Amino acid sequence: MPEDGRGVDSRIYERAGGGCVNFNQHHHAIPTTVDGIKFTSKKEAARYQYLKQFKAAGVISDFSMQPRYVLLEGYRKCCHRILSPDTKKCPSCGMKRPKFHHGEEYVADFLITMPDGGIIVEDVKGHIKTPLFNSKWKRFEYLFPELSLSIVTNVKAVPI
Ligand SMILES: [Zn+2]
Repeated sequence: MPEDGRGVDSRIYERAGGGCVNFNQHHHAIPTTVDGIKFTSKKEAARYQYLKQFKAAGVISDFSMQPRYVLLEGYRKCCHRILSPDTKKCPSCGMKRPKFHHGEEYVADFLITMPDGGIIVEDVKGHIKTPLFNSKWKRFEYLFPELSLSIVTNVKAVPI
């Protein structure tokens, strides 16, 4: 195990705006810009507009885009041991800067704060979940049990 595990600070951070860098491909998605923000699909842009209205109406307290969650921290490996990313030298063989392996993140579409303080992490999907997503979802659930992950597939059906 990486010795540092998951630091609270690295677990959740938000990044407003920008393009969607979700792990999943939005098949046949049409990039759409709203309020100067580029969304990878019309559904995602529509959901953004719904959320703006929800916020104005007080249904939700706030929302932000593209919350990122670390599912696996980056690490180094040498001599059959996992070492922290900042390892300068393998304690076993002395090799400098052992090979670094990138970690893995889950980037959702929205982070919503409810009036009661509850947090909902939302992903807008236009198609059936892929095995890759199911795997990420499972790990996300395991690592962040305090958060609710909501998959929105039918944006138009959401009432205002
Ligand atoms: Zn080594």
